Amino acid sequence: MTVTAQFTRRKEDFTCDVCATDVQGNGYTNHCPECLSSKHVDINPGDRASSCKGTMLAVSLENKNGQQYIVHQCEKCGFVRRNKVSPNDNFEAILALSNGTIDAYRRELVFRKKLEKQILSDVRQSAR
Ligand SMILES: [Zn+2]
Ligand SMILES: [Zn+2]
Repeated sequence: MTVTAQFTRRKEDFTCDVCATDVQGNGYTNHCPECLSSKHVDINPGDRASSCKGTMLAVSLENKNGQQYIVHQCEKCGFVRRNKVSPNDNFEAILALSNGTIDAYRRELVFRKKLEKQILSDVRQSAR
């Protein structure tokens, strides 16, 4: 018996742990298109076999054979993984990643998203 396909395709929606964006899964995306964060749930892509569940922050951008990869590192255990850039990824975030300003970009994004949710809930409450 040979073990070949280690990739399991799964469609699942999730809420980003970092910036609280609701992400619609398309079976390929395993990271947030807004802040590029991922979660340490796999040992092999898609298998959900890791019990770590730490937040995997995008730390840098790598170019391999003409393909751009986001390098993710787990905050909890230090595990590093490379993921292909998805066409849905926010270009500003990719840019920030490539020029080393991703930390500042992420902080601003989290702030903006929180404010957005706050304003939306205030609007809903005052509409009552
Ligand atoms: Zn996010
Ligand atoms: Zn981890």
